[in-house]
Amino acid sequence: MNIEYCRWPDEMAELYVAEGLWLGRPLSRIIEDRKNDYAMDLAIICGDRRFSYGDLDRLSSSLAGRLAARGMKVGDTALVQLPNVAEFYIVFFALLKIGVAPVNALFVHRRLELAAHARQIAPRLLIGTRANPLFSDDAFVDVLKEISPNLSLALFLGETNSSSSLDHWINTPFEGPSCYAPSAPDEVAFFNLSGGSTATPKLIPRTHNDYDYSVRISAEICQLTRKTRFLCALPAGHNYPMSSPGALGVFHVGGCVVMASSPEPLSCFDLIERHSVNMVALVPPAVSLWLHALPGREASLKSLELLQVGGANFAEAIARRIPEALGCRLQQVFGMAEGLVNYTRLDDPGERVFTTQGRPMSPYDEIKIIDEEGFPVAKGEVGMLATRGPYTSRGYYRSPQHNAHAFDDEGFYKTGDLVRITDDGNLRVVGRVKDQINRGGEKIAAEEVENLLLTHPDVAHAALIAIKDPSMGERSCAFVVTRNPGLKSSTLRRYLASLGTAEYKLPDRIAFIDAMPLTAVGKIDKKRLSEERGFAGNAASN
Ligand code: AMP
Repeated sequence: MNIEYCRWPDEMAELYVAEGLWLGRPLSRIIEDRKNDYAMDLAIICGDRRFSYGDLDRLSSSLAGRLAARGMKVGDTALVQLPNVAEFYIVFFALLKIGVAPVNALFVHRRLELAAHARQIAPRLLIGTRANPLFSDDAFVDVLKEISPNLSLALFLGETNSSSSLDHWINTPFEGPSCYAPSAPDEVAFFNLSGGSTATPKLIPRTHNDYDYSVRISAEICQLTRKTRFLCALPAGHNYPMSSPGALGVFHVGGCVVMASSPEPLSCFDLIERHSVNMVALVPPAVSLWLHALPGREASLKSLELLQVGGANFAEAIARRIPEALGCRLQQVFGMAEGLVNYTRLDDPGERVFTTQGRPMSPYDEIKIIDEEGFPVAKGEVGMLATRGPYTSRGYYRSPQHNAHAFDDEGFYKTGDLVRITDDGNLRVVGRVKDQINRGGEKIAAEEVENLLLTHPDVAHAALIAIKDPSMGERSCAFVVTRNPGLKSSTLRRYLASLGTAEYKLPDRIAFIDAMPLTAVGKIDKKRLSEERGFAGNAASN
């Protein structure tokens, strides 16, 4: 049975097919296309290991065959949590080949997030690594099995028992018949994670057709070629390093992806030098770290031709320093897991690249900039960006109520981003109306953390807001009204961690206040909290 999702209206789907945007092919074709003419070319460098396109196809087919033989089939789902290693892509393509749709959880996700994903997709398959303390034994697997009674197979990297060793499942050639096929091109290939602003993070179903289109057009705009060597230093499962144009874009043209475990500058500089990397995608705080670590090491970046920066607001002053400091071109990327991606183009004049976040990648992207009532603002005024198009989702997974707010009557996704359009049609992101903190590209839904704080018996009210930060762009500050004057911020932070919350969501600062300021209708007035209380004020704790 196929996975349900909010489909595009027929007339739009027909247009996208007729115009050649949706090719009616599974995403797994990205490596299957390469397996003949490029079979010997390098697809992935991961530490000392090298994988050709032939290897990538063969190993993913082996895994696919075994999983299919275990009964995994079209319409099933998988919860996958792997670090930046080649196996991430081998697993991804294996699942595509058999029509099993994964959620690729971030490696920083912990119990709380993984359990929430499992509750939503009821996975049949779990793939992780024993290197993650959460999976050092099977206790948490049992919890996940309770959440999802469908869960019938768990495979781990670094597992000694061959029956549940991912290494074994991948590397032992599968001799049986290949009885599997991908899901249909207009069905769900996998789920993206939304940054979100709601208590439970939403999942975004992405189809083969729509994602494949976004990969193809991204690769074209970023002028990828067989010679591209892309450093994957951001979490591999995130939409940006996956498809903007990311690793999938690189595979699409037959280039090579070099895995980095994190954007930490010294190890990345070393990888760039050793493997002649010519392209990298970063978030703004990582760029600052790189610039800081660079003096004296410029020679390591000799091969670098293109630096992409996206995920969060990139300061113009730093943008201007890039070409000279790093000796490469800069491209700004303003995208979202829901779909729309904007790029500055490689032949844009410098001023445009330094001062805007680019323009939609496809001529079929439709955007409007609207006021609070949903009416278009005058040209050049600030408003909220809304969008629909051939690769922008029409709705979150099983979230009809939320979708009613997040999408308008015409199917436009309301991004929550405040933008202004320049005379030449480029976007400048100037702010946000969604209740979210963008901590250097990692998104924190305020409501989620507030609800967790409120489960503590001493917390009467909680509000999470963004505070400006020179290195991360933003950090989080929780304002808390407590019943217990002796309550400490360290106690609250430890409490959140004990619930299994990912570390990046733990408030950077916690401030105890006597009462929450309220709006006229009685809601917590976050604007006043950030304006009046300031952060030098009594945000005494850290
Ligand atoms: P995600 O879905 O995690 O990729 O987050 C998407 C959101 O990140 C967007 O809706 C924006 O709020 C923010 N974002 C992404 N790229 C940029 C950028 N270049 N400048 C400012 N904000 C950005």
